[in-house]
Amino acid sequence: MIIVLPIAIMQIVVAYIFFNAHWSTVTASLSDSVAADISLAVELFNQAPSAERAAKLNEMMQPHMELSVDLRDNHDFPSAQRRSFFSTLDKTLQRSLNQSLQAPFWFDTTRYPNHIDIRVKVDEGTLTFIAAKERVFARTGFVFIFWLALASLLLTMISILFIRNQARPISRLADAADAFGKGQDIDGFRPSGAAEVRLAGQSFLKMRQRIRRFMDQRTDLLAGVSHDLRTPLTRLKLHFAMLENTEENRAARSDLNEMEKMLDGYLDFARGQTDEDTVEVNLNAFLNDIVEKFKPTPQLDLDKDQSIQIKPGMMTRALTNVLSNAIKYGEAVKLSSRTDKNAAIIQVDDDGPGIPEDSFGEVFKPFYRLDTARNQNIEGTGLGLSIARDIIRNHGGSIALGRSELGGLKVEISLPV
Ligand code: ATP
Ligand code: MG
Repeated sequence: MIIVLPIAIMQIVVAYIFFNAHWSTVTASLSDSVAADISLAVELFNQAPSAERAAKLNEMMQPHMELSVDLRDNHDFPSAQRRSFFSTLDKTLQRSLNQSLQAPFWFDTTRYPNHIDIRVKVDEGTLTFIAAKERVFARTGFVFIFWLALASLLLTMISILFIRNQARPISRLADAADAFGKGQDIDGFRPSGAAEVRLAGQSFLKMRQRIRRFMDQRTDLLAGVSHDLRTPLTRLKLHFAMLENTEENRAARSDLNEMEKMLDGYLDFARGQTDEDTVEVNLNAFLNDIVEKFKPTPQLDLDKDQSIQIKPGMMTRALTNVLSNAIKYGEAVKLSSRTDKNAAIIQVDDDGPGIPEDSFGEVFKPFYRLDTARNQNIEGTGLGLSIARDIIRNHGGSIALGRSELGGLKVEISLPV
């Protein structure tokens, strides 16, 4: 539109000005000249009005002026008034004839394709003039319009071609940003196109580098801290093991055990973040494999087959965390999948106690477990769901909790396809 609209507007304005000013001026002077010729012929005829005079005039004028003269003895003009398509041209001729002729006249510009019929009343009848149309109308106007339209068409085509070429690198950049958001590889992306687009592409690559470095830093730090804390923790455990078996010491020992489990969880989490390649897998086969590892095996309800781009190791970990929760806290477990517009939805249902709605946000926080009374005998560090969410977000997806039809918790995982 940026290119085509101005071209169209310019052409229309130019055409309008041309027709209004140039063309009508040219036509007016052409009409004037024909009208002058006719008035001269009428005057010459009136000096000695006779059929011979008319024939003589015709003889003289036809070869030089493209104007033939004929005297007819009917005294009336045809009653039909035929106007040309461009009636402004008729108006111009009308004005010119009005100015140069005293006698009544009539003309028709449409009956003959290339000639104009002009009649003037004289005492002996009517003088009929047939003039070549070129003498009156400037026909080059149509040629001008034709070339104008052709030029617009050419310009439009060329600009569409160029703009297409310029838009392609932008959509490539958008695709790359999209893929990066889904945690996929974008090593094939090279900035291209106009200078500004290339600049945007380079900035995007730099931003990706910074995000990667930041993520690496985070996992390194996490792994480092968990690792470093283990040595003093082991020393403490040893120390308590050698102390008397009092109530207080037992409680301290259980705290230490819990701390150790947390550190293991952190290390696991950090390890899970290591780079894994995105591959295309068959979703149903993938889900089948995961479910088979559980005892009792959850019920399966799968949608039609489709392939999906994921990091299989990480995704297995995420789904295992969610499924093991369902099996830990419930009895009956169901895993189902379906397709929604641009996403594959994986849903895990159980018939356990569920999670109160106001804690939906909390349970995703690392080490957060619902009140210990509920979890009494159930082991866990509270990292399962936060790891799962991290992995799913890394895939460009989302995870949401809800109330299940089975009575317990519903976990809905949506992954872009
Ligand atoms: P782990 O790190 O071993 O998975 P966890 O299961 O306690 O420990 P999360 O998986 O993060 O930790 O779950 C957090 C809390 O959310 C759990 O402690 C539990 O109270 C609650 N929860 C999770 N899944 C369910 C479920 N299916 N039904 C009821 N409560 C659940
Ligand atoms: Mg868990």
